[in-house]
Amino acid sequence: MTFIIIYKIAIPQGMRNVKEKYVALEIKSFLAMQRIIVLCLFLMEACSAFGWGFFGHRRINRMAVFTLPPEMITFYKHHISFLVNNSVNPDQRRYAVKGEAERHYIDLDIYGKDAYNILPHRWTDAVKQYTEDTLKTYGIVPWHIEVMKVRLTNAFRRRDVEQILKLSAEIGHYIGDCNVPLHTTHNYNGQYTNQYGIHGFWESRCVELFSDDYDYFMERAHYIENTQEYVWDAVKQAHTALDSVFRIERELTLEMGEDKKWSFEARFGRTIKTYSYEFAYRFHERLNGQIERQMRRAIQMVGDFWYTCWVDGGKPDLDLLLGTEIRKEFEEENEKERDMAADVELQKTVRKHPESEVE
Ligand SMILES: [Zn+2]
Repeated sequence: MTFIIIYKIAIPQGMRNVKEKYVALEIKSFLAMQRIIVLCLFLMEACSAFGWGFFGHRRINRMAVFTLPPEMITFYKHHISFLVNNSVNPDQRRYAVKGEAERHYIDLDIYGKDAYNILPHRWTDAVKQYTEDTLKTYGIVPWHIEVMKVRLTNAFRRRDVEQILKLSAEIGHYIGDCNVPLHTTHNYNGQYTNQYGIHGFWESRCVELFSDDYDYFMERAHYIENTQEYVWDAVKQAHTALDSVFRIERELTLEMGEDKKWSFEARFGRTIKTYSYEFAYRFHERLNGQIERQMRRAIQMVGDFWYTCWVDGGKPDLDLLLGTEIRKEFEEENEKERDMAADVELQKTVRKHPESEVE
């Protein structure tokens, strides 16, 4: 029997861009077909290790709901599945939608040691100084969060339930990203310091292994007068944390040696090379609560932004919107978005993630 699979693949064009292409595969045996399905399952699993890892983004949006005041919490709890599931959409479309990729990071070090003070925090001033092209090349996450804030505020003003939900889920994603140290550097995956894979290690492997023990008792959401500076402070904080991330990984690698740094795990019938539990445990310990602090900061910020947008949007009575039906087409659009780039995402994961098949 012959199986034909038509699928979309990503052709890397440099580290952060890909082009897609449709490819037809003719598979002549049932066994080969079975192997491909197994490989896809593995890749889907590996794929969960990106962004804050899908795991981290989902958790940030979920926990942010519980920071909200009584006027908001019923509505947000009612839609918590939507907010959690769609927290990962920006990552899933980042290699399929032009202009999306640069919204997730900022390579602060490109602008020099004093980048935080040099770079204009207002978009229009930054464009005047550096041009839009340059800014987009090195990432625009702090400015994009401001754009999302205006959109979400307007959605509240219009009492547009679907957009309130979509924009709440997605602003949560970008806020999450701006709190990840490795989203603020040109050396975002340790590629220039022989620490390749450190990105997924910090934000996925460690988070998945240890974040169940974090303290999620948060403050009630605050109104933020100056959201622009709030975001820039977070970016600065994340960037400052980088020094210890790189240093501790280097020190531990020297202390433990390559053989203890890695382990081999069997997954879906394959052997996968990954950071060992012991290496991850020691790294996480030595960071002295850094990942937990960054995650807590992200959760608090997401709640603060949702609340601030709601206040600025005229404090609409969200309980009255509880009965508003979500159109089927809207749900389908979002589902499609989650699926659309899944295969593209897999390519990126294989390219950037330290885990690789060794047979
Ligand atoms: Zn992202």
